[in-house]
Amino acid sequence: MNWEQPAPELSPATRPNAAGAGREALKALISGLGEKAFRGGQLFEGLYVQRWTSWDQFSTFSKALRERLEAEVDLTWPAIRESRTAEDGATKHVFRLGDGMEVEGVHMPYADRTTLCISSQVGCAMGCTFCATGQMGIRRNLGAAEIVGQVVTMLNHHHHPAGLPVNLVFMGMGEPLHNLAQVMEAFEILTDPKGLAIPPRRITLSTSGLVPGIQRLGSFERRPRLAVSLNATTDAYRNRIMPVNRAWNLEALSACLQAFPLGRGERITLEYVLLHGVTDSAEDARRLADYAKGFPSKVNLIPFNEHEGAGYQSPTEATLDLFGRVLSQNGIPVMVRRSRGQEVGGACGQLVRGSEAEDLEADASAQ
Ligand code: SF4
Repeated sequence: MNWEQPAPELSPATRPNAAGAGREALKALISGLGEKAFRGGQLFEGLYVQRWTSWDQFSTFSKALRERLEAEVDLTWPAIRESRTAEDGATKHVFRLGDGMEVEGVHMPYADRTTLCISSQVGCAMGCTFCATGQMGIRRNLGAAEIVGQVVTMLNHHHHPAGLPVNLVFMGMGEPLHNLAQVMEAFEILTDPKGLAIPPRRITLSTSGLVPGIQRLGSFERRPRLAVSLNATTDAYRNRIMPVNRAWNLEALSACLQAFPLGRGERITLEYVLLHGVTDSAEDARRLADYAKGFPSKVNLIPFNEHEGAGYQSPTEATLDLFGRVLSQNGIPVMVRRSRGQEVGGACGQLVRGSEAEDLEADASAQ
């Protein structure tokens, strides 16, 4: 199985675009204009500390340089085509990219932080049966600049104040480990201490369980935290909803997670959606606890959020409580994560978009 998708093939731009570019590319760009290399650093800070969006804002540059940039270099971030805000304050944005393709991102405000959910691909090759993106197939990988662009655009759109922490989750469209080179290039830009300076521990990459990709991620010294979208405790059921399991089953995935090099105190997050009568039995809880005990882990339990037309149900509070207790009694840290932004179809994670839910229900009824 070819697990990594090729690099994005964008039509060659007639003009370079500085938005979302990395430190070295900006240095090269500015040197190409005959300017001293340190101006590249000023450009980087203007883009990622000030989050300036037009050349005339670059007050650190001479008027002549600003005019030259205006004439020769684009500063174009992904455009927001549509935004929908849910009652809980989460906003789903649809971004239009340079070639007209679209991806989604979600902005979730909290009192002490902002969490952004971003996409890594247009479409996805993994084919999870419950996922609308999976049904699209893969269109193309995003470039690092397009990944960074989602972050800067959402921060600007919501007037994110300096100093308020940002958490970032790769849980939007796409399997990030299928596009690891561009994801890691974006990670370097996003974590640069002289730029957006998002601490690596605040960035989480969520995978469907692509074993070679997890192994490669583990070889990076600086990397995002790892989350695995598990959702099943038996191969029979996981094979059915997540085709990746047919190539790397639960045992192979566990062996890979056991070998994953973790920092001090670091744990791998296992995401598990609870569907009433489908994945919420006491037996499931025990199997999940056994699985999670194999390596330092924590479990996010995501009770399915009922909505009209979904046709299936949330676990009862008593079931959820019991499920959580089985994990806790086995020493597994457990969090109940209630998805935000559900009604705008922007709920985070790879599982809970409205149309995904319908597919999951179809699958559940086939059991
Ligand atoms: S759930 Fe994630 S990995 Fe699976 S098809 Fe959807 S986007 Fe791809």
